[in-house]
Amino acid sequence: MFGKVLIANRGEIALRIQRACRELDIKTVVVHSEADRDAKYVKLADESVCIGPPPSNQSYLNVPAIISAAEVTDAQAIHPGYGFLSENADFAERIERSGFVFIGPRPETIRLMGDKVSAKEAMKAAGVPCVPGSDGALPEDPKEILRIAKAVGYPVIIKAAGGGGGRGMRVVHTEAALINAVTMTRSEALSFFGNANVYMEKYLENPRHIEIQVLADSFRNAVYLGERDCSMQRRHQKIIEEAPAPGIPQRHIARIGERCAEACRKINYRGAGTFEFLYENGEFYFIEMNTRIQVEHPVSELISGVDIVQEQIRVAAGEKLRFRQRDLTFRGHAIECRINAEDPYTFVPFPGKITLYHPPGGPGIRVDSHVYQGYTVPPHYDSMVAKVIAHGDTREQAIRRMRIALSEMSIEGIKTNIPLHQELMHDASFIKGGTNIHYLEKRLAAKSEVKKDH
Ligand code: ADP
Repeated sequence: MFGKVLIANRGEIALRIQRACRELDIKTVVVHSEADRDAKYVKLADESVCIGPPPSNQSYLNVPAIISAAEVTDAQAIHPGYGFLSENADFAERIERSGFVFIGPRPETIRLMGDKVSAKEAMKAAGVPCVPGSDGALPEDPKEILRIAKAVGYPVIIKAAGGGGGRGMRVVHTEAALINAVTMTRSEALSFFGNANVYMEKYLENPRHIEIQVLADSFRNAVYLGERDCSMQRRHQKIIEEAPAPGIPQRHIARIGERCAEACRKINYRGAGTFEFLYENGEFYFIEMNTRIQVEHPVSELISGVDIVQEQIRVAAGEKLRFRQRDLTFRGHAIECRINAEDPYTFVPFPGKITLYHPPGGPGIRVDSHVYQGYTVPPHYDSMVAKVIAHGDTREQAIRRMRIALSEMSIEGIKTNIPLHQELMHDASFIKGGTNIHYLEKRLAAKSEVKKDH
């Protein structure tokens, strides 16, 4: 096992990784920007290194600074967390070339999955069901593009091969709008992602977002840790996640989970990863793979009893997976609410000083957060300040526990989206379960219509 790990991230995930390291008796180095200098989690680490000014591109994305921090502190491995450099194949490669271990998949796997066209091809070859669409990137010839769209059937969605974060996508309903949409997506793709390749998929009208968590070691052993339903989204940003997914038969999950684990063995995947699917009319359609730990990993930890971050570290250190699929059982139901520093209705970020902080607790409640009373939420980064996760024997119990937790939680000095979560925990459709990816946006739009009428 490693003696010392460098954490190349900030906020709650930097603290989460630190906790995993401590339990494994690994010393920690946290790198931080000037904006995060005084954060408690930075002080809790065994060592910390300031790597630059507040803007991410000068600190958390500053590869040479991170590598020299690892050199001066004698860390053996680097954990990238999520966001920032976590899915940057060049970063992973430079870490390994500098003699450190990257806690994640091999650079070539990150590269394969980072290009959505090559990812889809690899998944198709591995027997994972994909959204019907173009075979690979779209050609230049407009006639060919029109022919492909006709074969796929409208509506279609044009997506950038290098896309991410919900950007570089365009839905097309009619033939007349197609070529213009392809041209526009191409030029956006080139300027945002430096890759003009775009591809086409059938646009699914009312899908749910269901994803499969996997874990694999370097010896082609792979398991899946169940599914997560992340359909409650606004602008492709997840705000509530749960496991298991309400209403989907366990045998369907087992079938798709096995396919994902098998795909991991085929591509020689290493570490934790997530296969993201759209789910409609009882069918799964692969859209992309995330080759890193995800924000919503705690719901899978609570139902499986597996500490995913610790397992990531173990397999990066060359250990074999300590369990097989048949050793895993899933117990109860878990729900996560992402608490963001933002206006609950306009969604405008609201950084600032937290003047009062009272986190919830009690049976079945887990809070993953780096904030505290007196902490100042910096304006430079993501607005998430806490994750509240409720676990119960049943979904009903998890919802009840979440309601109590949200009612206990006080954060003053900044605005948060706690009121929105409270509403959603009482929303009839959410309580029923199985809402699709458009549900939250539609609900928010209906609400603002009602407001306008009054
Ligand atoms: P990103 O990497 O930018 O998050 P994804 O491929 O994961 O892109 O897609 C993001 C979201 O866009 C999905 O969660 C879904 O809401 C929507 N989307 C993507 N592909 C389709 C599709 N074929 N049909 C319907 N919606 C889609």
